[in-house]
Amino acid sequence: MKLIVANWKANPATLEEARELAARSDLEGVVVCPPFVFLEEAGKLLSRAALGAQDLFFEGGAHTGQVSPDELKHLGVRFVIVGHSERRSAGETDEIVAKKLAAALAFGMTPILCIGEPRAVRDAGASAADSFVMGQLERALEGAAAGQGALVVAYEPIWAIGSGLPETREGAEEIIGRIKERIPSARVLYGGSVTSANAGDFLGSQVIDGVLVGGASLDAEEFVKIVMQAGGAA
Ligand code: PEP
Repeated sequence: MKLIVANWKANPATLEEARELAARSDLEGVVVCPPFVFLEEAGKLLSRAALGAQDLFFEGGAHTGQVSPDELKHLGVRFVIVGHSERRSAGETDEIVAKKLAAALAFGMTPILCIGEPRAVRDAGASAADSFVMGQLERALEGAAAGQGALVVAYEPIWAIGSGLPETREGAEEIIGRIKERIPSARVLYGGSVTSANAGDFLGSQVIDGVLVGGASLDAEEFVKIVMQAGGAA
């Protein structure tokens, strides 16, 4: 079954809206990733979809403002996005990403590791993009024990995120194929401007295991249309 991850980012503004969006996104094959403040309430409304977090810290203790893996685990979180480009651009290094990935696995949660190249790297050619992405992957896996748990990787070219300019299916398949050669057990998703108009193309691929949806996951009607193209809406 294809996996569809809804990344709400810092949305919506109110608990009432979050409840409604969670209830309407509760479909088979879906992982709903609300902001930390809505995790608990959203989790209560999900029975078919799994609960995911958008980030985690790698330990508990004296870390003001952080959220520990232990806390997430106790809230019923099963998936955690790690290394999203919006966090990397706010200063998250490969070393931190590796620690977060290892912490998620150690607490029995499935990391959704985000990797992807910036526009300048893509403009330098397909092999530059390939080396950039595969390098990010290797560095993220540094702290993880082999075979420790399930892993999801989301290939998200940075230039495609929120831009309305998705990668082509063929372009995504090429890099995703390489990631799967490196980690055959991982499920590998595509993310970047997925909408109901293009989801069928990515979800129809034999190589792509699902999609990570940002902006379009905030509109319940649009999100359901995306999920239906994966055959996941009951
Ligand atoms: C994302 O949040 O990772 C993402 C892919 O966003 P969007 O679907 O809005 O491009």
